[in-house]
Amino acid sequence: MSVVTVKDKSFETYLDEATIQKRIKELAAKINTDYSGKKPLFIAILNGSFMFASDLFKHITIEAELSFIKLASYKGMKSSGNVVTSIGMDDDLFGKEVIIVEDIVDTGKTLYSFLPKLMHQQPKSLKIATLLHKSEATEYPLQLDYIGFVIPNKFVVGYGLDYDGLGRNLKEIYQLV
Ligand code: 5GP
Repeated sequence: MSVVTVKDKSFETYLDEATIQKRIKELAAKINTDYSGKKPLFIAILNGSFMFASDLFKHITIEAELSFIKLASYKGMKSSGNVVTSIGMDDDLFGKEVIIVEDIVDTGKTLYSFLPKLMHQQPKSLKIATLLHKSEATEYPLQLDYIGFVIPNKFVVGYGLDYDGLGRNLKEIYQLV
């Protein structure tokens, strides 16, 4: 177990590189089987999912497309919560088999707010692949089709995930000490 400092906080190893890579291969294998004969469009949500999307996509052996989008949430009136809009969403999803690629689902609010916008474009199917799921923290009803790891409700950093903009370059996933 190693401890790293990111900005002003200490984090300890939670998932090492080999464990992450092994699980990603398993997820890719499942997707290859489930989408055999189809041509899914992977939509990875920036910034956090860039490493996961890259490693997952390397193991996709069926014909597939990959796009990246960024979500921006604007605080609306207090009662209505966040309104999520996307940046870089220029694919036409009509009739496509879409797989959303997320780094982590925490409360689920971000994806839950964004999914209706995608469904509006009438994709043929829409599934979600997330590397991490804080299942205890999830408040919004989301169907997560491919989950890498269910993790406790503790802040994590590394492998694309940041703490205040830093730590994304770590190859392993670390948990707040
Ligand atoms: P949700 O809308 O599901 O509550 O949160 C989604 C976003 O919150 C994630 O895409 C991620 O950017 C951020 N987030 C939630 N938990 C963590 C965490 O433990 N570590 C980091 N780095 N980001 C997190």
